[in-house]
Amino acid sequence: QVVTRFAPSPTGYLHIGGARTALFNWLYARGRGGKFLLRIEDTDRARSTPEATQAIIDGMAWLGLDHDGEIVSQFDRAERHRAVALDLVEKGRAYKCFSTQDEIQAFRDAAKAEGRSTLFISPWRDADPATHPDLAYVIRLKTPLTGKTVIRDEVQGEVNIGNDQLDDMVLLRSDGTPVYMLAVVVDDHDMGVTHVIRGDDHLNNAARQMGIYDAMGWALPVYAHIPLIHGPDGKKLSKRHGALGVEEYRDMGYPAAGVRNYLARLGWSHGDDEFFTDAQAQAWFGFDGMGKSPARFDFKKLANISGQHIAAAENAALLQELRAFMAVTGLPPLSDTKISLMTQAMPFLQERAKTFIELLEKAEFILADRPILPDEKAAKSLDPVSLGILGELTPHLQNASWDRHDLEGELTAFAEAREMKFGQLAGPLRAALAGRSATPSVFDMMLILGREETILRLQDAKG
Ligand code: GLU
Repeated sequence: QVVTRFAPSPTGYLHIGGARTALFNWLYARGRGGKFLLRIEDTDRARSTPEATQAIIDGMAWLGLDHDGEIVSQFDRAERHRAVALDLVEKGRAYKCFSTQDEIQAFRDAAKAEGRSTLFISPWRDADPATHPDLAYVIRLKTPLTGKTVIRDEVQGEVNIGNDQLDDMVLLRSDGTPVYMLAVVVDDHDMGVTHVIRGDDHLNNAARQMGIYDAMGWALPVYAHIPLIHGPDGKKLSKRHGALGVEEYRDMGYPAAGVRNYLARLGWSHGDDEFFTDAQAQAWFGFDGMGKSPARFDFKKLANISGQHIAAAENAALLQELRAFMAVTGLPPLSDTKISLMTQAMPFLQERAKTFIELLEKAEFILADRPILPDEKAAKSLDPVSLGILGELTPHLQNASWDRHDLEGELTAFAEAREMKFGQLAGPLRAALAGRSATPSVFDMMLILGREETILRLQDAKG
């Protein structure tokens, strides 16, 4: 069974690049009936606040990336990591190193002077354990001095690293705390992780981590190191390119499905498919569609895909997500009346809105309450003459049958009879119905508001 995991270090938010890593792991597992686990790498105690961890959990929940099982805290497993380090000493695959910082520095200085590699080779590497003094020590992994480590990576291909490039890394510090590299391997092994999919900034770590797998006699996971995300200018994605935390994308009104779809396409492709559902992505996702070079973040494309997801969404689910968006961005909850109006209007609202913010702009005439207060520009089109015209129009609306075709006929005839251009009628109507000069079409608004509310708003405008 496939087991993947997402193993973020808490930083205070879920980075958009981290979110993509999580998504890839989720897609890979979900598409294969596997498990997707979440481990918080919270060994850096200063950064690992409960809030920082919660931000990751919230980000994943918003993005719809559900994980299996309990969340694993790496820090809580320190005892187990320590035990593995001691086990490796027992097995002769690691050793206690008593060299002091000064001694290590002296080794390096001498090596440099002689033009040798400055990677430290501990004199304790092959010392008889019985000669160990009663002093502070670290535990180091005994790494082969010759030969090479070959990472068979699903994305990067075969990567060779000469073992002479790898020093005997510290597994356990002198205060007994395990290092990160050991923790990752032990946790992945204990969690039964079969596939490690993560950013290629961890590729070199893989070589070191493989040394620990080998020493413990554990089966290696499949590695897939994915290229990082770059900004539109080809440089590593950073704050100056735009938002980094997924919650910022949520607050900009992107639907989670759109962000998922867009992120999946960042560094992975399936033919020419740009727009797809989760089910399709899960069925299609695999390493063969993965690119080796960094993908560039394209905000326009994100907006475009998001718009398609809003348009395609099922009405009730979309309204639910919209209400959640309103709640997180501090907008007041919708009354029952507004909910039913919004439900009716959803097919119209979801057309051509790229974000929930655009959708809400479109819905402004629905969300506004009587009496509608016109903005400055709208107020100008509510001059006495126009108000007189709206007054004359009201009886026609009272009798019109309330469908698009008849309303169009009614209003066109009304304007023609007065030798007005349709725009001269529509301007005041917009102002009265929505309080704005730029609104959806007057017919859309009238149909959604209904006869009664339409007439009431026209009467309000007359004062
Ligand atoms: N905690 C690491 C990070 O946030 C990920 C480690 C891993 O995936 O192996 O970059």
